[in-house]
Amino acid sequence: MDHLTSETFDANARAALNDAQLRGALKNATSLFGKRRLAAAHSVSNWEDLRSEARRIKDETLLHLDKYLEQFTVNAEEAGAQIHWARDAAEANAIVKEIAQHKQARLVVKSKSMTTEEIHLNSALEAVGVEALETDLGEYIIQLAGETPSHIIAPAIHKTRFQIADLFVEKLGIEPTDDVVMLTATARRVLRQKFAAADIGISGVNFGVAEAGTILILENEGNIRLTTSLPKVHIAVMGIEKVIPRFADLEVFLKLLPRSGTGQHLTSYQSLITGTKRAADGEGPDELHIILLDNGRSKMLAHPTTRQSLACIRCGACLNACPVYQQIGGHAYGSVYPGPIGAVITPQLIGLKKASQLPYASSLCGACREVCPVKIDIPELLLHLRAEITEGSEVRDERSEPVKRKTGERLAFKMWAAVMTRPRLYEFSARVGHLLQGFIKRGNRIGKVGGLIGRLAPPLAAWTGTRDLRPIEAKSFRQQWRSAERS
Ligand code: SF4
Repeated sequence: MDHLTSETFDANARAALNDAQLRGALKNATSLFGKRRLAAAHSVSNWEDLRSEARRIKDETLLHLDKYLEQFTVNAEEAGAQIHWARDAAEANAIVKEIAQHKQARLVVKSKSMTTEEIHLNSALEAVGVEALETDLGEYIIQLAGETPSHIIAPAIHKTRFQIADLFVEKLGIEPTDDVVMLTATARRVLRQKFAAADIGISGVNFGVAEAGTILILENEGNIRLTTSLPKVHIAVMGIEKVIPRFADLEVFLKLLPRSGTGQHLTSYQSLITGTKRAADGEGPDELHIILLDNGRSKMLAHPTTRQSLACIRCGACLNACPVYQQIGGHAYGSVYPGPIGAVITPQLIGLKKASQLPYASSLCGACREVCPVKIDIPELLLHLRAEITEGSEVRDERSEPVKRKTGERLAFKMWAAVMTRPRLYEFSARVGHLLQGFIKRGNRIGKVGGLIGRLAPPLAAWTGTRDLRPIEAKSFRQQWRSAERS
C-alpha cells in the first residue's frame, strides 16, 4: 500500500469502489459495529448527558493544556517515569531509537497505537536494525501483509478470514485452514515467544491522568498487558491531547469509548500504569519512558474551530457511520487516520497542500457528528478546511503553501454567488437556462424517468456520471409560489 497517498484520494477511492471483496468485508464489519454501538448506547440512560460531559471535560482540558501537561509530567516523574517531549515525528523517533540503542535492543514488541503509526516508528526502528513486532492480532495480520491499518480500532477490517488464512499459510508456513480458532492460536503461539524475548515494549496511551501521572491503555486481547509488563523497558508514545485532569473523568470516557468503538460495555483489559514497578511488585519494567508528542497538535490547538479535532478519543465510530468510508475503506485516504476524522486530522498534520482532496471526501451528511461520543462537529471542520483551501489565506501550516484552486473554478463560484444573491438575476438566469438546456441535452440520453437528464457534456459530465439531473422548470419556484398564492 506504499503507493497510496492523501494526494491521490480520488484515484484510490475509484479503485476501492471496483473491489467487490473489499466492499463486502467493509459492509459486514461497519454495519455490525454500527448496530452494536446503537445497542450499547441505549443501555445507558444518560447517553446524551455523557457525551456533553465528555466534550466539556475535553474543552476544559484543551483550554488549559499547558497546566494539565505540567501537572501530568510532575506526577509521572515523581512515580518514576521519565518524560520526554517531542516536537515532531523525527524527534519522537530519535528518542525511541536512542533508548533502543542504549539498551542494545534487537527486538521491540508493540501494542496497537495510532500515534506510533502516525510517526512511522516501525520503519525508523528497522532503519537502525531493531525489529518492531506488532502484537495486536489485527496489526500483526497487516504487518505480515505489508499493509497499513484500514480502521482506527480494527486495522484488518478490510480482510476476510480466507485472505488471512492464505496469508498465514504463505508467511507462517501453516497447513491450509480457514478455522478462525486455529488461525488465532497460531498467531498467539508466535507472539508469545516474541514477548518472552523482547527487550522493549512500546505502547500508545488512551488517557493520561494529570492528577496522578497515570497512563491508561485499553484493549481486548491481553497483548498490551504483556507488552507493558514483560520487557524491562516500556516506552509509551502519547499525543499531548490525551491528558485529562482527574481520575473521576475516566468514569465518563470509559462508558463512552468502548460502547462507541466496538459496542462493548467495557474493554476486556484496562491497564492503569503509574511509574515503574515497586519493590513489592517483583515483575514489571525497570524503566518507563513517556514521550509527549506534539507533531502539529499545537497548531490545531491555536484555532478555536480546529481545536475540537483534539477532543477525539479514537473510537472509530465516525468511520463506521460514514457512507464514504463504508464504500471505500481506510486505505483510500492514503493516511494513518482514515474516515471522517482522518479527513480533518491528516490535512492539519501533513499540510493542506499534501492532503487537499481529503476535506472533500465527504457528503457532509452529518452521520459522523451524530455518533461522535465527544460531539466533534466534523462537518464544520471539513467546511473550515475547504474554506482555507479555497481562500488560501488562513493556512496555518508553514510546511504547506496555500492550495491554489483553478481559475475556472473560482470564476464559476463567483458567478454562482452573484446569481444566488440577486433574486431578479436568478429568475432571469433560470429562464435563459430553461431555454438553453435544449441544446445541452441534445444528443444525450434524455427522457429517463420523470424527464431527468442522464448525461451532460464535460465538465458537467462529472455530475451526471453518477446521478441524473433535474431539468430546469419553465417556471421558477418563486413564480410557482406566486401562482399558487393567487389561485
Ligand atoms: S471523531 Fe469522534 S467518532 Fe470519530 S474517532 Fe474521534 S471520537 Fe470517535
